[in-house]
Amino acid sequence: MERIGIVAFQGDFARHAEVVSNLGALPIEVRTRGDLSLVDRLIIPGGESTTIGMLMEREGLISAVRNRVESGMPVFGTCAGMILLADEILESEQPRIGGLAIAIRRNAYGRQIESFETVLSAPAISPHPLEAVFIRAPAVEAVNGQAQTLAEFEGHAVLVRQGPILGASFHPELTDDPAVHRYFLAL
Ligand code: GLN
Repeated sequence: MERIGIVAFQGDFARHAEVVSNLGALPIEVRTRGDLSLVDRLIIPGGESTTIGMLMEREGLISAVRNRVESGMPVFGTCAGMILLADEILESEQPRIGGLAIAIRRNAYGRQIESFETVLSAPAISPHPLEAVFIRAPAVEAVNGQAQTLAEFEGHAVLVRQGPILGASFHPELTDDPAVHRYFLAL
């Protein structure tokens, strides 16, 4: 059985674990480098990217994850997790793993629409429209280099892949459709 690590400091890691086990894989909570060494793939959930990044750095997980990804481990970041995977976080020096050639802006949707739901078309992921929940979401301002846009919303990429790295600015774990997780488990 494939072992799917889920960074478990903050945010809705329990819901990711549920989706992963529904898809027949084994979720493992990751808080230390020892935990990381047990897993085949890694999910970094939403939450507060500064907090998750700081705690990961304290545990040596920023560089440990970067090394694993450089040697091919698939990683999936949702929302704050995607921020941590971005090469460029506009107007921020916060710790990040990087590797995904995008420029991202945190909390990019104004206060009035801090959180919203919509439907996305992502033909590479699913023949059906994807429901997407955005919560104080970042906006991808540029997709560079080898990074590929898999879904867009209002002119911004919201699902991006670069080799083994997948990032979503929304929360696919909060809907009943496991299509994005299934895609990640097949990377
Ligand atoms: N606003 C958070 C951040 O900037 C991300 C929000 C989320 O993960 N739902 O880190």
